[in-house]
Amino acid sequence: MIKPGSTNLRDREFIMGCLFGKEPFFIKRERFLLYGYLKKDKDFSGLVLFYDLAGQFINVWRYTGGKVTHTINFYEGGNIPVRLKSGYLSCTINSITTWYKVETEWYSIGEYGSGLFTEPEYNGSSYGYYTETYYYRQCVWVEDGTGGGAYNGGSGSGSIENQPTLNASIKKLFVKGTTITYGPYIESVNNAYNDLNNDCFSNYVTNYLLSHNITLGSIKIDETYLGLAGISSTNDLTFGGSEFITVENLEHEWIHLAQRYINNTNIFNASNTGMAEFEIALISDILECINIHGNFDIYSEHPFACYGNGKYNHQKEYQDWLKSITSGGTIFPSSIVTGNFLYWANIFGDVSISYNKSRGYQYTNSYYKPKTISTISGICYLL
Ligand SMILES: [Zn+2]
Repeated sequence: MIKPGSTNLRDREFIMGCLFGKEPFFIKRERFLLYGYLKKDKDFSGLVLFYDLAGQFINVWRYTGGKVTHTINFYEGGNIPVRLKSGYLSCTINSITTWYKVETEWYSIGEYGSGLFTEPEYNGSSYGYYTETYYYRQCVWVEDGTGGGAYNGGSGSGSIENQPTLNASIKKLFVKGTTITYGPYIESVNNAYNDLNNDCFSNYVTNYLLSHNITLGSIKIDETYLGLAGISSTNDLTFGGSEFITVENLEHEWIHLAQRYINNTNIFNASNTGMAEFEIALISDILECINIHGNFDIYSEHPFACYGNGKYNHQKEYQDWLKSITSGGTIFPSSIVTGNFLYWANIFGDVSISYNKSRGYQYTNSYYKPKTISTISGICYLL
């Protein structure tokens, strides 16, 4: 796989292998050839393995029904990929044995008199089969089940007696309840909230709000809302559609609550809004940099804050900076130099689509301190 880079961007080159796990996929054999890096089949279940061009193992993604369900890393006895979590990992070590065929063509170059044959002589080919076994460790997050409000995984038949309600902990925060009436969407909110509180920092924010008697407003879905989700100055939480009720979107708003209540920043002041958004994007980039151990050649679907969307002028520089503040992708930084934060916030304002300067976001506030980053590093640790 060679993915050409844009201007000033290095090409990405790697070897991709697939192990197909489900019979129905094999039946449609012609689709094997159509399966590719950019074109994932919706029925694909199995493993996709990535190697660098020297054959060095990078990582594995596990797919079920066309969706990524696990990432799997080569077992070297080292650390588990990083996420800030308060739950626990259940890990198993498994092996994959693959076979491959090596075909060799034999040529001979003979001496003739005082010189050589100019044409090598073809002596046929031979081949052999080899097998190789890889060991890998597969880890699955196990939720600790706290947070109250039991829910079941199915979307149910919608019968009235099983109408789900917001779980108790959400009701304590969102004192105005919800205008959502459709049961499966309420379950989505409960599920996202339970997942949210498996994250060390989000759970800290929840506990901070509860212990300081800070209450939030209501939860609603508004299809006309411009954005995936947002929390207003009166603490009403809006999702831009039922499909946006996700833990990722909730985490974003939870960091805004940390900025607002733990670090006393008025994020609704226009000079702070863009800076606060960049701080969130930077936190996400720092975690990704640690996740890939500072190796930006590793395939990642993560969108980085300061390059992308056709703008790659600062890609290498930004990657180098992320590596430097994380000591090569090994630690979560305890603080960020203000001048650096301002410099990158300004570039984020040019690159970002959602928070672009053209939409009114400002990135010149040298008084904005990324205090949430230092708060996180003070209370959450890398696994
Ligand atoms: Zn935001």
